[in-house]
Amino acid sequence: MNLILFGPPGAGKGTQAEILINKYNIVQISTGDMLREEVKLETDLGKAAKIIMEKGNLVSDEIIISMIEKRIIKPDCKNGFILDGFPRTLQQAIDLDNILDKLKINIDMVIEIHVNEDILLKRINKRALESKTKRDDDNSEILKNRIVVYKKDTMPVLEYYKNLNKLYSVDGMKNVEEVSKDIQNILS
Ligand code: ADP
Repeated sequence: MNLILFGPPGAGKGTQAEILINKYNIVQISTGDMLREEVKLETDLGKAAKIIMEKGNLVSDEIIISMIEKRIIKPDCKNGFILDGFPRTLQQAIDLDNILDKLKINIDMVIEIHVNEDILLKRINKRALESKTKRDDDNSEILKNRIVVYKKDTMPVLEYYKNLNKLYSVDGMKNVEEVSKDIQNILS
């Protein structure tokens, strides 16, 4: 089973991905985590990405696609994967389809965790307060920019998957257990 978990920053994608990988024995592919790893290792890619991430902007499609291309062919993806935080632009979605076509792999479903904007801003402000040291991009000004970027660059990706009849939505305003149950109902 190959899935895309879709939703704005603070929607709870990471939390839900964690539950799903354990239940279905598939792997989570988070481009955000991969980038943070590069930053930590101080690679050239990491150094370039850090400046962009700190502003809450998107890393270039080329960089992201080449990371995904290398990751998705690893043997641990054979049983299935969850893409978390990717694709984030229409171009990334198109490039992903080309990569998957060549590998003869399909995305089965795209699950959107839908959260209303006011609640989202409250959540991310809370996260900003809680994780001052954990993530450099978790302060509220930057998070607000990330929501602007989400609306402008990432929302069109939803339409793309809707047209392919792959889009399913869950109400992300419910609690973690309920959201998880709703997702599993869609998958089964
Ligand atoms: P969250 O899970 O909080 O929504 P991520 O951890 O997925 O955020 O991403 C953190 C940052 O990493 C983003 O703000 C962006 O700068 C960069 N990033 C992650 N994934 C992508 C992507 N697919 N395309 C471009 N930039 C990305």
